Parts: sequence; structure tokens; C-alpha cells
Amino acid sequence: MRIHHIGVAVESLAAAIPVFEVLLGCSPQPSEVVEEQKVRVAVFRVGESRIELLEATSPESPIARFIAKGGRGIHHLTLAVPDLTATLARLENHGIRLIDRTPRIGAGGKRIAFLHPTSTAGVLIELVEETATD
Ligand code: ZN
Repeated sequence: MRIHHIGVAVESLAAAIPVFEVLLGCSPQPSEVVEEQKVRVAVFRVGESRIELLEATSPESPIARFIAKGGRGIHHLTLAVPDLTATLARLENHGIRLIDRTPRIGAGGKRIAFLHPTSTAGVLIELVEETATD
């Protein structure tokens, strides 16, 4: 298992991208809109992991609600797993609450699922299914 990415909630990609370009010494991949999450995402590669800057595209976006409640900065941590369906079943058998009992589609068309932070020490954890092309 590895950390696939860390999701960072930002009010403005235009303001945040230049800061992370200086910090990381590289430019992000072209930003992408994930309609299902109502976010625009800018991805910086950091070694074998990534930092994803997330800007809401709608007031109903989870990122807009997070910022409206006073949240800023790190929003979620994402772990790469080989078989998402099997992993969700295993975690549920251990009593971990799932937000997504079946995988849905996230950035890059990947299968993802979120765990409920009340079961994971208050951290919102996303799982992404690792594919051979990653
Ligand atoms: Zn994510």
C-alpha cells in the first residue's frame, strides 16, 4: 500500500498553484473537472505520491461545504489499493463505516471510495484502485 495522494481544499486554484509550483519546483498536470465531486483538480506529482489541489465548482461541492464550515488545507488522504471491492468488504467486516459501499468514479476515471472519518481517527480517507497504467 502507498499514499496515492493528499487532497488539499483551496478557495482558488489560481492563487494556490503558483505557491505549490515554487514549493515543489514543478508545474501541475493540466487541471481537470470531476463533475461527480463538483471540483476542479490540479495534480502535482511528488515522488510516488501526488498533491491534489481541489477547488469547488459549485456551492454544493463537498469542498465548498468544507470551506464554508471553516475547513482549510488538508481535506483527505488517499491510499492506493489493488482490489477496491475486496478491500471495502474486508474493512466493513472489521466494523469500519464506509461512505461508499460500492466504488464510484473519481479523477482520471479511477474507481474510488471514501471511508467515514468517525471510523478512521477523524481523518477522511479515500481509497483508489491501483491499475497497471499508474
Ligand atoms: Zn482524492
